[in-house]
Amino acid sequence: MKVIVLGAGVVGTTSAWFLHKEGYEVTVIDRQPNAGMETSFANGGQVSVSHAEPWANPGAPKKVLKYLMKEDAPLLFRLRADSRQWRWGMQFLRECTPERTRHNIIQMVNLGTYSRAALQDVRAETGVQYDCLTKGILHFYTSQQEFDEALGPAEIMREFGCDRKVISADEAVRIEPALASVKNRIAGATFTEADESGDAHKFTKNLAAHAASQGVNFRYDTTILGLDSEGGQISGVRVRNKDGQVETLKADKYVLCMGSYSPMLVKDLGVDLLIYPAKGYSATLEIDDASKAPSTSLTDDEYKLVFSRLGNRLRIAGTAELNGYSTTLNDVRCKAITRRVMELFPGMADPEKAVYWTGLRPATPSNVPYIGQSKISNLFLNTGHGTLGWTHSCGSAKSIAAIVAGRRPDLDFAFTRESQLESTKGGLPTPA
Ligand SMILES: Cc1cc2nc3c(=O)[nH]c(=O)nc-3n(C[C@H](O)[C@H](O)[C@H](O)COP(=O)(O)OP(=O)(O)OC[C@H]3O[C@@H](n4cnc5c(N)ncnc54)[C@H](O)[C@@H]3O)c2cc1C
Repeated sequence: MKVIVLGAGVVGTTSAWFLHKEGYEVTVIDRQPNAGMETSFANGGQVSVSHAEPWANPGAPKKVLKYLMKEDAPLLFRLRADSRQWRWGMQFLRECTPERTRHNIIQMVNLGTYSRAALQDVRAETGVQYDCLTKGILHFYTSQQEFDEALGPAEIMREFGCDRKVISADEAVRIEPALASVKNRIAGATFTEADESGDAHKFTKNLAAHAASQGVNFRYDTTILGLDSEGGQISGVRVRNKDGQVETLKADKYVLCMGSYSPMLVKDLGVDLLIYPAKGYSATLEIDDASKAPSTSLTDDEYKLVFSRLGNRLRIAGTAELNGYSTTLNDVRCKAITRRVMELFPGMADPEKAVYWTGLRPATPSNVPYIGQSKISNLFLNTGHGTLGWTHSCGSAKSIAAIVAGRRPDLDFAFTRESQLESTKGGLPTPA
């Protein structure tokens, strides 16, 4: 039986791998010349079950207003004449209640824990290399108020099996000595020993090469133009191939993994996905003095930045700008990142040599992705992974492969159902 996977980011590539393991004949289509070239290219590198607090939480509306006019703010909402953005914003506000926040944290922790274990299995089975570090993630707070506000969500995470321990500034510096110069400013910290980090792009590219060697067919430089339907089913994918010709590719089942571009492809088929691009930035620095650079993956809460050591490079990523599909670099935001890195770890690298990048997180208002069957029975969804697509990729992929094969995934999660898709038009997604 044939399956076509639409998109070869980290989510599409892992989906293809797990579908191949289910015994399907898999083809993956992507417009780029290789896998993992768009949002999965230079992200923060964290495999962080502990990063399960959604953007939509009780404190978010006040913060969004505070940041509204600040050019280098970590979260920037630029209002546009775009009904999709307004609809997304309204739903985001509805997700900010304590009840919805708790529900969404539970989804993220369950999917995260399952996914981290699935990633470890893929690593062991395939031997794929990606500058993986298994040294945990340390989250530090330089604001007492932010630290106090983080304790409640951390407790919910612990309740559902994410071992996120609260630690002192002294313990934080013992775990990561490079933080010594800012120790006096650390109000508190948490440490999740089981979390990991690694280069999502290397992982995706190397897994795609491994999958190709096992028989998965990757069609690169091929742009998806539309889906054809017949008798309530998807009958083919119209593409422009690398020779510039339009052709239709056919399969029995189709899995949508096009990140921020997923909603446009299925809108005319009546599948309504509330995904909006949340543009983020990263800077990658070659390390000059390893003794001054962190080697544990870090989250700097005040600046909403994450740090991951990828071999001899340090990747720093963060900020969110809800402002449409542009990936242009804003110099003010780039410089704000390297300024903070140099403040924390002076002498570690030359900031002038930073390589900057932007990517569009496929964000849902709740941070919970769409994983499951759509209202069209041979069209499946694995998309909308927002801030945590790398963390959640293997677990989402393993689950969608089970759903495509007609089995219930072995994961407690609000999988997408037809009712959930329809309810996003007017109200809250219904928990499964
Ligand atoms: C700054 C930043 C930092 C981040 N940090 C982290 C982190 O530390 N940890 C974490 O877990 N997550 C992180 N993320 C989130 C993570 O990177 C994303 O959730 C993830 O990459 C999404 O993967 P995806 O496969 O869904 O999308 P993508 O990687 O964007 O893949 C979609 C694919 O579809 C293809 N495509 C789209 N349209 C078409 C078309 N018409 N025809 C053909 N192909 C098409 C694209 O070429 C692309 O390859 C971060 C994101 C950003 C921006």
